Amino acid sequence: MSVCTTAPSATAPDIIRQRGQREVFCGLTGIVWLHRRIQDAFFLVVGSRTCAHLVQSAAGVMIFAEPRFATAIIEERDLAGRADLDDELDRVVTRLIERRPDIKLLFLVGSCPSEVIKLDLTRAAARLDERFGRLPRILAYSGSGIETTFTEGEDACLEALVPTLADAGSTTSLMVVGAVADIVEDQFRRLFTAIGIERVDFLPARHAGAMPAVGPHTKFILAQPFLAATARALHERGARRIAAPYPLGAEGTRLWIEAAAAAFGIDPARTESVLALPARRATESLAAVRAKLAGRKIFFFPDSQLEIPLARFLARECGVELVEVGTPFLHRDLMDAELALLPFATQLSEGQDVERQLDRCRAEQPDLVICGLGLANPLEAEGIATKWSIELVFSPIHGFEQAADLANLFARPLARRALLSV
Ligand code: SF4
Repeated sequence: MSVCTTAPSATAPDIIRQRGQREVFCGLTGIVWLHRRIQDAFFLVVGSRTCAHLVQSAAGVMIFAEPRFATAIIEERDLAGRADLDDELDRVVTRLIERRPDIKLLFLVGSCPSEVIKLDLTRAAARLDERFGRLPRILAYSGSGIETTFTEGEDACLEALVPTLADAGSTTSLMVVGAVADIVEDQFRRLFTAIGIERVDFLPARHAGAMPAVGPHTKFILAQPFLAATARALHERGARRIAAPYPLGAEGTRLWIEAAAAAFGIDPARTESVLALPARRATESLAAVRAKLAGRKIFFFPDSQLEIPLARFLARECGVELVEVGTPFLHRDLMDAELALLPFATQLSEGQDVERQLDRCRAEQPDLVICGLGLANPLEAEGIATKWSIELVFSPIHGFEQAADLANLFARPLARRALLSV
């Protein structure tokens, strides 16, 4: 094993459900945005050279002073069983912690090579956590690409954090769950404070020492739709989820904040008075982009699990025609509020048989396809404009002030293709 440090509703009448070949990234990708969010965390991938290459290329843009992720590569000698992997892992972690006292939270991130699966990383993390006296905290989660999709990396990471959160006792609080950009956190915090919700926490917090407490008086609201396991773990700690659409676009953000306000018994008139101005500004800023998107046909391949909220935003606020909205998994309880807002008879699909889905896509000749990187290049070569869904997770897209930027992420590939056609 060696360390390779990388530089820095109407619901649809039918849902197509398919299982077959899929084109998705694995959960290791989440490290790219999680390491930006939790600023004193370190992500140590335990994997193969493939894993190292994936993380390095996915995060290729981040070359800052000190890298905060690395890969402990399982070498061939390990595969032949000639090394005690637990000892190797302990050695690598010890060296890392000695060299990097700034690390306050260390995640051992599992992957899918068979030798890694055999390693009990959760037990290893508990052993090391104990040995280092919880300084730093050492946790484990899996970023494996077997039967998962890339945003599940964040879900698994946050799920691993939940048991470590302090007990909130009788303190009442709102917890916003899901990694959002710092600027988005600041905006939401200002709005919730103005509405009158006194205690607002974010999971994950920006620093390991600032993770929120949780308890029976915690009400949590998801900022990201792909956090089913985290939501379950919070339920087990006694917290209760506030059901709402997701804060994408002016409408989604308004409904999301209104749902939180209602759960805290805030007078709707007060909420309205706080939201009126930012909501109007967001709607006005969207108008210019709407003109570029209205009437365009958009096809979503299943990838990020953001597809349904994004489709709702594009249809209702940008006038887009939805051809098919694919999602890797349909968590009904987390999506109910979104499904109710989708245009009637929107064609949903869950799971993927990529060739058959490509056939449907080609037959419809959409103006824009939202998909993973693996499909984007061939579709572009066929003359179909594409948008990489992964960019939507890397970019600040939540909240009123980002609504027009979000719409622009879809308008830009259309403008680029129009230029190419000229
Ligand atoms: Fe590939 Fe699995 Fe490593 Fe992801 S975790 S890079 S899918 S080997």
